[in-house]
Amino acid sequence: GPPGTAMAEAAAAAGPPPDADSDDCLQDYRHLFSPDILAGQVAFITGGGSGIGFRIAEIFMRHGCRTIIASRNLQRVSEASKKLVAATGQQCLPLSLDVRQPQTIVAAVDEALKEFERIDILVNNAAGNFLCPASSLSFNAFKTVIDIDTIGTFNTSKVLFEKYFRDHGGVIVNITATLSYRGQALQVHAGSAKAAIDAMTRHLAVEWGPSQIRVNSLAPGPITGTEGYRRLGGKFAKETNLFDTIPLQRAGNKTEIAHSVLYLASPLSSYVTGTTLVVDGGSWLTSANNFPALLGIASSSAK
Ligand code: NAP
Repeated sequence: GPPGTAMAEAAAAAGPPPDADSDDCLQDYRHLFSPDILAGQVAFITGGGSGIGFRIAEIFMRHGCRTIIASRNLQRVSEASKKLVAATGQQCLPLSLDVRQPQTIVAAVDEALKEFERIDILVNNAAGNFLCPASSLSFNAFKTVIDIDTIGTFNTSKVLFEKYFRDHGGVIVNITATLSYRGQALQVHAGSAKAAIDAMTRHLAVEWGPSQIRVNSLAPGPITGTEGYRRLGGKFAKETNLFDTIPLQRAGNKTEIAHSVLYLASPLSSYVTGTTLVVDGGSWLTSANNFPALLGIASSSAK
């Protein structure tokens, strides 16, 4: 066929896009979407100083977007912002906030609007998680995860709505999980918290659609190079060939999640709202919900 076809075939055969396990920017990046798909836009990303949130910020910036990355640890987001600016040449404002405390979100959003005069995209990515059987989970531990994940997502969405989206429209992407789909063992706290966010996605999509606000969830599977993966037994999974049961036979990487978030945040998904995009290589359909094996991980990671 023509050379273009050969190139496309080669790209498809090359497998997933490259990623780096650490919180560092990519050495090489080849654009698949148009490099200016987010040109002129501004994204507010909670938990953008590490893991998946860091890569989302990087990929957005590589597509012309300016970013605000916000979490509790100002030093973490400040260091991340320096790396992101150096790698992409875009602006990135690091801010501290705790999504459990609305007044800190208000202060951060005010600061962001003072700097950029607009916010087009909100990515609710901040979360906390750990493995624990329900029988050992303290009342407070369950509540803390609901507070950060579910209530934090509501708080941040509501502040962005009031401060900017109500009058200008906007896009919200909530990072959730597939944990509740099959009642994943040792994850009643995070699974319940993320299921509630998926419900919130639909409620807010309905109420805020007339204001030209799209709201969607993205549910990642096991993603390498993340705190979640390290803590939730990713190494164990690799040693025991757990990935053989995943239809695509491997874990995903942060760049793959960021590309799917980019789709949901961009005009490519202009008629998509109130839905959850699962980005897990088909994992939840086939992976065993193996309680003893997971308990093995839980006790070895607690050491
Ligand atoms: P991570 O690196 O631990 O990211 C979590 C971020 O949230 C951190 O940057 C943290 O920064 C921030 N954060 C935590 N509590 C906060 C609070 N109260 N207020 C503001 N920020 C807060 O984890 P990750 O693995 O990249 O996960 C990112 C998202 O993907 C999460 O929503 C997670 O549930 C989801 N996910 C991950 C996987 C996976 O395989 N890794 C799978 C499914 C879903 P500070 O400590 O500075 O606050």
